[in-house]
Amino acid sequence: MASLTLKGLTKRFGRTTALSCVNLHVKDGEFCVLLGPSGCGKSTLLNIVAGLLPQDEGTVLLDSQPVDSLSPRDRDVAMVFQSYALYPHMTVAENLSFGLRMRGVPKATIRERVLETARLLGIEDLLEQKPSRLSGGEQQRVAMGRALVRRPRLFLLDEPLSNLDARLRDSVRLELKRLHRQIQGTIVYVTHDQVEAMTLGDKVVVMCDGKVHQVGSPETIYSQPVDTFVASFIGSPEMNLYKGRLIRKDGCPHFVGSGFSLKIEGVQLDLDGCEVEVGIRPEDIRIGQGVSVALQVKVEMTSYVGSEKYMHGRLGQESVTVRVPREADFRAGDIAPLSINPDRVHIFHEGRRI
Ligand code: ATP
Repeated sequence: MASLTLKGLTKRFGRTTALSCVNLHVKDGEFCVLLGPSGCGKSTLLNIVAGLLPQDEGTVLLDSQPVDSLSPRDRDVAMVFQSYALYPHMTVAENLSFGLRMRGVPKATIRERVLETARLLGIEDLLEQKPSRLSGGEQQRVAMGRALVRRPRLFLLDEPLSNLDARLRDSVRLELKRLHRQIQGTIVYVTHDQVEAMTLGDKVVVMCDGKVHQVGSPETIYSQPVDTFVASFIGSPEMNLYKGRLIRKDGCPHFVGSGFSLKIEGVQLDLDGCEVEVGIRPEDIRIGQGVSVALQVKVEMTSYVGSEKYMHGRLGQESVTVRVPREADFRAGDIAPLSINPDRVHIFHEGRRI
């Protein structure tokens, strides 16, 4: 397999800048997920790497060698699309072998590779079936198989699970993770689903409006978002984010929001008086006192999502979401004390983490 490097990749469609000076390095064998809202440029990036679309500026390198002048075929990368793009008139075996036949690989080698791939994906029994007879999950496996059988230098996967129902998506996601361990391939995987990104990626690249906002492990982007976009995009329910001002009270920095204030630590003195945003994840707020910062919330409602329960209410003039114990019983109008661990408060100045 190969490493992938992107240097200053820029792509415009008329007045739309789909990609703006994207730099990225994906190590050999790494599972890299491109995550971002619809229209942020994920598919454009994948198509440029595959050679299906020319970039306006920048370079694509595989194993440190520029491949910009190579055709898609000569780049030796395999792409799996959301639609699977299987040939309906061919059997599964013929779908799997098509790419190898086109490349003139000897028949015996093709037979061997098709069987090996089918075994790896658990689809040996389906080899003589036509795609129309297969379930969505089976078609997805055949599409993966068609990429695997070629033993490419790089796999590019464009939302390959989005046509599956939620339950099947969960199990195929785990299969994909297992498969990656086995084949040790370099994968660039596109999704707008953060759960998918967090569970699959060794490295997650968060994008918005054609720009890379943050590259890091799932843990890093969740616990140390570099800006307010990443902070609010990652996490469900969303991080509570409040605009306000930093002031010094009794020698300690405080954040003063709309109708509430928080003592915070670890802030540079030169930000005294500055407008900032603070972010607090719903699980970093506790009901009841005990930690150093105590506040009050007016309960509006609770929501139960099976494994978790959330309370939604007002903190001063702002809305707040708090993860609460499942047995907690709140009624609309209740006043509950909240405490926030100051170590878990994220502070952003001009949109950037400080
Ligand atoms: P989605 O998740 O919806 O597929 P995406 O993140 O993959 O979105 P892209 O499809 O890469 O985003 O599109 C990035 C931007 O470029 C969008 O504003 C889109 O409208 C624009 N764009 C993409 N392809 C073309 C094209 N062929 N012609 C004109 N504009 C395009």
